[in-house]
Amino acid sequence: MLVLVINSGSSSLKYQLRDLDAGTVLTEGIVDRIGFPAEGGEVGVADHEEALEVVDAALHEVLAGRQIDAVGHRVVHGGERFGDPVLIDNEITRAIERLNPLAPLHNPANVLGIRAIAEKWPDMPQVAVFDTAYHRTLPERAWRYAVPDWLYTRHGIRRYGFHGTSHQYVAGRAAGLLGLEPAAFDGVVLHLGNGASATAVQGGRSIDTSMGFTPLEGLVMGTRSGDIDPSILVFLGRLGMSSDEIDDLLNRESGLKALGGSNDMRTLVEAAERGDAKARRALDVASYRLAKYVGAYHVAVGGAKAIVFTAGIGENSSVFRALVAEQLGALGVVLDTEANAVRSPEPRVISAPGSAIPVLVVPTDEERAIAEATAAVVSSALGERASR
Ligand code: ADP
Repeated sequence: MLVLVINSGSSSLKYQLRDLDAGTVLTEGIVDRIGFPAEGGEVGVADHEEALEVVDAALHEVLAGRQIDAVGHRVVHGGERFGDPVLIDNEITRAIERLNPLAPLHNPANVLGIRAIAEKWPDMPQVAVFDTAYHRTLPERAWRYAVPDWLYTRHGIRRYGFHGTSHQYVAGRAAGLLGLEPAAFDGVVLHLGNGASATAVQGGRSIDTSMGFTPLEGLVMGTRSGDIDPSILVFLGRLGMSSDEIDDLLNRESGLKALGGSNDMRTLVEAAERGDAKARRALDVASYRLAKYVGAYHVAVGGAKAIVFTAGIGENSSVFRALVAEQLGALGVVLDTEANAVRSPEPRVISAPGSAIPVLVVPTDEERAIAEATAAVVSSALGERASR
């Protein structure tokens, strides 16, 4: 089955074409600056329909006459409704649109991508895979904020969590590496990219996660503050900052960038090794926050059988992993220094044999997870139609 995976943003459209039977990526790319004027000889792309024409042209050669069987979309917000990937129809598209207030930057862009495909290829099965879906199993004690009820009933203010596709995929592969069924896996998964979140997994399900109502809560990230005292926002408002300015400050000007002068982990580690105090401070604050979350989630899952690192920093930064693991000594965690230093695209164990909790590195692959989920939904829908 050939599946086209689409990640549609407000001004960009990322795509990847996968052959699921062969287990290969046929091609991938990005069309960006959608809606921006043409620049220096470059052809401008007016909207998502035009972007799709660019994608179609790029796919043409690779396809060599073969047909795309289905399209899988990464959709950011599935609200309380979507706990699984779904086959898209008009009602589903409108339901995704109704969630716009919860993800004002992302869901409208996802819908633009869905409509552009429906327009161009009306018979193409399309599947939505939601970034929040894996966290639909959070118990109320984990998703509820301690605020008056109307915030939830009128505005949907609760913890939703994000990066779900990645956390679920990585938890499944970690279970495999430990020789467990996914449903027997209890552990803590750490997705550390530009955005970062930790998830407490019990019996293969997400039972708590560090991102909340939005992706701002939780860990120290590339440019996001993560947890802060909410009164700081009130304080800044009283100083005269607008809500847009505060939003920008905490989402784009904070985190590692604010603490250490860069949101790139490589730059920070190099600077820290040269003795740069700001870079050291950034690593210190970020690794301490993360270690605290691991301790908390170890408790939440009733004793983790593994701590799993993934995404850009988690997969590549042996220095950051070591900083975190050092602070987990109280849990009996011990890294194997040599195993931690190995660079590899394979899932692997990086703790010492005596470690009380195994520490794993498991590369994430959200596109693969989306493609596989898409194929599963489409196959079962076709099966249902055939048996009717
Ligand atoms: P995104 O959330 O944008 O998908 P990624 O998962 O690609 O982000 O992660 C980006 C982060 O990974 C950056 O902080 C980057 O510095 C870090 N990173 C990528 N490669 C390496 C590497 N070889 N060593 C250390 N950090 C790395």
